[in-house]
Amino acid sequence: MVRFTVLASGSKGNCTIVTGGRTRILVDAGLSCREMFRRMREVGEDPATLDAIIVTHEHQDHINGLAVTARKLGIPVYFTEGTHRAWMRWLTPRRQMTYAQWVEQCRTQAAERQAELDAVETVGEVDEPDADCAEDSVELAAVETSVEGEIAAKKIPSRKEDPTWLPSVEYFQSGQPFAIGDIGVSPFTIPHDAADPVGFVFQAEGIRMGFATDLGYMPPNVKAQLKGVDLLLLESNHDLEMLRDGPYPWQVKQRVLSRVGHLSNEAAADYLENSYDGQAVYVILAHLSESNNLPELARVTAERALIGRASLLANRLLLASQNEALVPILF
Ligand SMILES: [Zn+2]
Ligand SMILES: [Zn+2]
Repeated sequence: MVRFTVLASGSKGNCTIVTGGRTRILVDAGLSCREMFRRMREVGEDPATLDAIIVTHEHQDHINGLAVTARKLGIPVYFTEGTHRAWMRWLTPRRQMTYAQWVEQCRTQAAERQAELDAVETVGEVDEPDADCAEDSVELAAVETSVEGEIAAKKIPSRKEDPTWLPSVEYFQSGQPFAIGDIGVSPFTIPHDAADPVGFVFQAEGIRMGFATDLGYMPPNVKAQLKGVDLLLLESNHDLEMLRDGPYPWQVKQRVLSRVGHLSNEAAADYLENSYDGQAVYVILAHLSESNNLPELARVTAERALIGRASLLANRLLLASQNEALVPILF
């Protein structure tokens, strides 16, 4: 069975579960681990059965609960190398370190990672699936308080103290399809102000699911990737007028509006009207801004675009929400 469940979508946290065959992937981990697990249980998903986490980009609303969740479940995290590095920079307080100390730190971490893998294989160490995510507050506190400059740098952090430690890291590259268990993953580059941001097409049991949020506009490569999808999750971030007249400072407005910002209702509608092939059974509007958009505005703008094309009337239009999970979509 193929199942697609948006747990949260918006600037306060994004995460979605894609299930196909015997594999379950968490796409982004932008809520706290505790909140993600709560929403999963609410929609009948067991957190303990997740196989991997895959990350679109390093912005906070996509990675907030990443480390805690991956550690809790002992599952690998899939990144592009650029995103992984940017994520590590974000988590690691600036400190002065000599090159020799840095090399030593890398060696220690590699050895610890290997030791951890060996331990999992021999002992079969798995966290209690129902244990809550008590690590959450401890982890964040550790990151915030360890700004001790040189002193911190001289001490090579152990696995427990290292906020960037993950049970396992897998790299993928944009434009190079690969598989996680029974799910095929085609990552593609999106225009957004992050290190190496990507969208995805997931494929399982012959069903294709397109995933494109956090993009300033719809470039030809993204349009090409989204052809022939059975489910389309598309950003509909802001209403242009609401953004222009809204509360954001000028620089932030410029950033959102830029070619590496976010997709407006109008831009999403333009794509749906003029480029979209209409193959999807479900179109989900996502990453709606709470300050510069209204769900009804996003819906009406997209509906108008779809209604213009009689062949698209069979498309079901859904809105992903920040505050609650969307009903799971089954194929
Ligand atoms: Zn985002
Ligand atoms: Zn972003």
